[in-house]
Amino acid sequence: MKKWEILLLLLALFMIASLFFFFPKASAMTEELPLFGRVIFVDAGHGGRDAGAIYGKLLEKDINLEISKVLEETLISKGAIVYMTRDEDEDLSSQWDEKKKRGDLYRRLLMYKKHNAELYLSIHLNSGESGGKGAEVLYHPINPKNKELGTILMKHFKNDLKTTRVLKKTDLYMYRNTTVPGVLIECGFLSNANERYLLQKEDYQKKISESITNAVIEFFQTESSSETS
Ligand SMILES: [Zn+2]
Repeated sequence: MKKWEILLLLLALFMIASLFFFFPKASAMTEELPLFGRVIFVDAGHGGRDAGAIYGKLLEKDINLEISKVLEETLISKGAIVYMTRDEDEDLSSQWDEKKKRGDLYRRLLMYKKHNAELYLSIHLNSGESGGKGAEVLYHPINPKNKELGTILMKHFKNDLKTTRVLKKTDLYMYRNTTVPGVLIECGFLSNANERYLLQKEDYQKKISESITNAVIEFFQTESSSETS
């Protein structure tokens, strides 16, 4: 055997060995970080001048932000790149906006478009409906994937949070204008005593966040399997 033949043989052996070295790692990575590189936008509803639903001293905007922060962490722990509309108590309207609420929502839309988000999750709380309790998801049919995402989320909420509510449609400005798959998540009712208690607990906020994260993982998996088939 000539010298260069030995070198070539060694190189080939090295390449084969490196395949064994890297591929199990790649599959372990998709198992541990199933959201690796996915850009997800988490929108904590309301903020600043807009409190959302109110129960005594309890403001929807504050609990939305708490849940969104826990959700941000949970998604990141699965490999996602997460952007937030806000990470403190503020709204996005400008002093020049004639309609403050519309200005605020418009800037939320611009924000996730700017970050090229692949998914938009809007975090809110329900209130008011007499006897109302349980988490629910609302979607706009402008994109068929919104319903798919909503259906998967509701399936996880039924299992994990024991909600008896169903997937609903919404015609709100935000979701009508959402250009990537995105839904409105109502995590529970501020007007329900038991849920009001739970929604303020970190354990329950984690439970909701994990349920959402698992649903998001399933959504992307279903998406990529339908793309390859
Ligand atoms: Zn709200």
